[in-house]
Amino acid sequence: MTLLMIPGPIETSPAVQAAAACAPPSHVSPQVLEAFGRSLELMRHVWLASQDSQPFILAGSGTLAMDMAVQNLLEPGDSAVVVNTGYFSDRITTMLKQRGVEVISVKAPSIGDVPSLEQIAQALEQTHAKALIATHVDTSTGVRVDAQAIARLARQAEVLSIFDGVCATAGERFEMEAWGADVYLTASQKAIGLAPGLALLVASPRALSARAALKQAPMMSIDFDQWRPIMEAYEARKPSYFATPATPMIMSLKVGLDEILADELGGLSGMQARFARHEAVASRARERWRSLGLELVPKREELAANTLSALYYPQGHDAALVGRIKDQGVVVAGGLHPEIKARYFRVGHMGYSATQEDHIQRTLDAIEAALK
Ligand code: PMP
Repeated sequence: MTLLMIPGPIETSPAVQAAAACAPPSHVSPQVLEAFGRSLELMRHVWLASQDSQPFILAGSGTLAMDMAVQNLLEPGDSAVVVNTGYFSDRITTMLKQRGVEVISVKAPSIGDVPSLEQIAQALEQTHAKALIATHVDTSTGVRVDAQAIARLARQAEVLSIFDGVCATAGERFEMEAWGADVYLTASQKAIGLAPGLALLVASPRALSARAALKQAPMMSIDFDQWRPIMEAYEARKPSYFATPATPMIMSLKVGLDEILADELGGLSGMQARFARHEAVASRARERWRSLGLELVPKREELAANTLSALYYPQGHDAALVGRIKDQGVVVAGGLHPEIKARYFRVGHMGYSATQEDHIQRTLDAIEAALK
């Protein structure tokens, strides 16, 4: 069996697959009410979010969740500071501009780096931004920002904070309540461990108030205010309808979130085990990269994500290496960042695969064999 080790979609557990492999149930059937309601409750645990935060589950991909965050917190005439670490920071910048929001970009000095906290603080001081936005892990560079410090800067400046966690949530440490973040969003096909198809977002009470105060409503299909009563109804296990949810995906979401929270590692449990597991797998991968002489795209090891590795092709190799790794039974991804696209490749090591010793071992061995 070929292993899918790209930075999403990823391998999923047999139980997750079995849960989605059903005749599509009605959105008001008892099993969907239970799976939907329970998933909303479990999301608060996975996000480490407060009891009064609001989780949202929508049919869609991560891009939809990004639009949802942008349009519910900001409106034409607002301004926002974007911490730019790559391709997906560029994407949210475009979305903000389409919403008529002025963007102050704080760019990393070079690809694989992050802007300093001083630069971000300065941008907040010099502007009247309503929100500070960052990509937790940029999938195009494999760079992770210091989300805790960025959330703290937002609190100090009394602005809202939005984190794109599509390549991070449930793999990288994120403590939504303790850090005071306002939106943390993701999609189902990465460290959450499902097939693609769900946009997942948790909003703080401050984020919900920001929506309530908008003069220009978001697009109806992603409006917090349209969806909130539906999420509340599902959490109360009551039937309701606004737009049809992806019911087989909801069945698998409950199973996937349960699996995440049931994790155990070296005396740790739940999210603490989950974060530690991704850290351990990533450091093991980095050890192998070092021994193979592979150079990370992230400039310093502490910037390297635990969910994926972005690696420059070594001398004498090019994109053909991805094909040779596939010949060894493992699918990895080519480059994504337009400026260095042809010079590097990406390996996912998150979610279900991070719990499977043989997935990691086979991936590291396949890359080593392909290089030789
Ligand atoms: N943000 C990040 C960091 C991502 O990695 C991705 C997907 N690779 C997205 C946003 C967009 O998600 P989707 O492809 O599910 O729309």
